[in-house]
Amino acid sequence: MNIARDLLCIAKGEVLEDSWSRQVYSVDASHYEIEPAAVACPVDEHDVQRLCEYSSSKKIPITARGAGTGLLGQSLSYGMILDFSKHMDKIIDIDNDYVTVQPGIVKAILDKELKKRNKFLPPDPASSNYCTIGGMIADNSSGIHTLGYGSTISFIEEIKVVYSDGKLGFASPSKYDNKMKKLGELLWPHVHEIRNCYPGVSKNSCGYRLDAVLADNFNPQKVFAASEGTLGVMTSAKLHILDIPTYRSLMVLGFEDLLSAVSAVPAILKFSPIALEMLDRTVARSNDDKTSDTGCLLIIEFAGNSSSNKVEGCMRACKQELADRCSVIEYASDEQSITKIWRARKNALNSIMKLTLGNRKPLGLIEDTVVRPDNLVEHACNLLKIYQENRLDYVIYGHVGDGNMHTRPLIDTASTKEVELIREIANNVFAQVIKRGGTITGEHGDGIARTGYIQMMYGKRITSLFSMVKKLFDPSFTMNPCKKIPCNDL
Ligand SMILES: Cc1cc2nc3c(=O)[nH]c(=O)nc-3n(C[C@H](O)[C@H](O)[C@H](O)COP(=O)(O)OP(=O)(O)OC[C@H]3O[C@@H](n4cnc5c(N)ncnc54)[C@H](O)[C@@H]3O)c2cc1C
Repeated sequence: MNIARDLLCIAKGEVLEDSWSRQVYSVDASHYEIEPAAVACPVDEHDVQRLCEYSSSKKIPITARGAGTGLLGQSLSYGMILDFSKHMDKIIDIDNDYVTVQPGIVKAILDKELKKRNKFLPPDPASSNYCTIGGMIADNSSGIHTLGYGSTISFIEEIKVVYSDGKLGFASPSKYDNKMKKLGELLWPHVHEIRNCYPGVSKNSCGYRLDAVLADNFNPQKVFAASEGTLGVMTSAKLHILDIPTYRSLMVLGFEDLLSAVSAVPAILKFSPIALEMLDRTVARSNDDKTSDTGCLLIIEFAGNSSSNKVEGCMRACKQELADRCSVIEYASDEQSITKIWRARKNALNSIMKLTLGNRKPLGLIEDTVVRPDNLVEHACNLLKIYQENRLDYVIYGHVGDGNMHTRPLIDTASTKEVELIREIANNVFAQVIKRGGTITGEHGDGIARTGYIQMMYGKRITSLFSMVKKLFDPSFTMNPCKKIPCNDL
């Protein structure tokens, strides 16, 4: 079978099958490498329909791709890759409180257009100069300001999609297709179980977000959030947007060490900041910034529309409450200085990735857990104990206001002993997080790395519901297989 030749006959966009292109698409921002059979760059919905139809009739896996910045191997496949960043990257419509886009648009480009209208789409991943809206929805991405505004899932109003058989689908709270109707019929009898089995934390990208689908009303469009392209290929999305806040203030506080910093988090949250981030010295050093001597930093931002006094007042009160626990390192209330400070925080993961030395890598399996903020100290103590006992170098930073701590131990991936050790550590850390009502992934998703842990997170009954959802949407099992539902469950 010559897949590329077939694709050239059925789709208008480019088809790539040379070995260089297949190598380029064989990697993302994870440690995996899988070479696809061919890559197609659809130009419109009809191309996507024909490509999906072909994939299901020939039983060839089909995987959508945005910028390939996923951290867990989500956009990798040995089948066909559909690259949305080449042509399907347009803004379709902007109104006062929503924007409709094609999935391949880069977040920073959308930000620039929205800013001209004094609007913004709050989820702001550190990768926003590259990542696409399709990838952000499919991973349920979030960022620094998720504490104040919510993750991508909170902003999805409508989704247009192509199913595995090539048929068009549509999902919004008021209007949805027959498949979505069947989704409702499948889920409503389990509503109590669904509402009780999901973690009690503010962000979650593990499994399918059935809790959000059945939140207040029926929100079928939210089934695509965090679904990693396993249920359908999105061709457009309507997203809720907000006014940019008029007044902003930010301060950087220096604490003696990680534990004294995270123990201050619940007290800071009482003042309702829109961002509360942590950079431990392990990261500040790799960032090579001037604050690298400080034990652990917390960066706190307040914002509002009514008056600058109110915003400044919150900041002052917060500072006063923490006066004897830390020192104020920096303060800013103009946009330029605030952006500059956030840039250092946004560079954290890039700097960390540079710590790779041969096979010794900062490995990301346990990098995205979330616990309730009042459980952070206990959680951090457990991590530090594990690193100390196993003599591992590590980095820790993240969205502590949401209880979302990013941490990576440096692991020699060529050593069977160390790879086995990280698995043991993951089992230990995930068990502790789940026991505390948290999630094993707040924003980066499951991908290849964490799909095997989804059952540990939700138990058998909810994961068998996930398999039923998968069967309903993708009976041919061709849509990004082995992500979200382990291959041996198909
Ligand atoms: C340096 C760095 C920093 C990062 N910082 C953050 C952060 O702060 N917060 C955060 O949440 N994440 C972060 N990430 C992770 C990553 O950038 C996000 O998950 C991002 O949203 C992925 O977007 P992408 O366009 O690269 O998607 P890809 O990696 O290309 O794809 C991700 C998933 O989306 C699916 N997909 C893409 N398009 C479609 C479509 N049209 N239909 C259906 N499915 C689709 C793919 O199949 C895949 O499963 C970071 C990554 C890096 C490398």
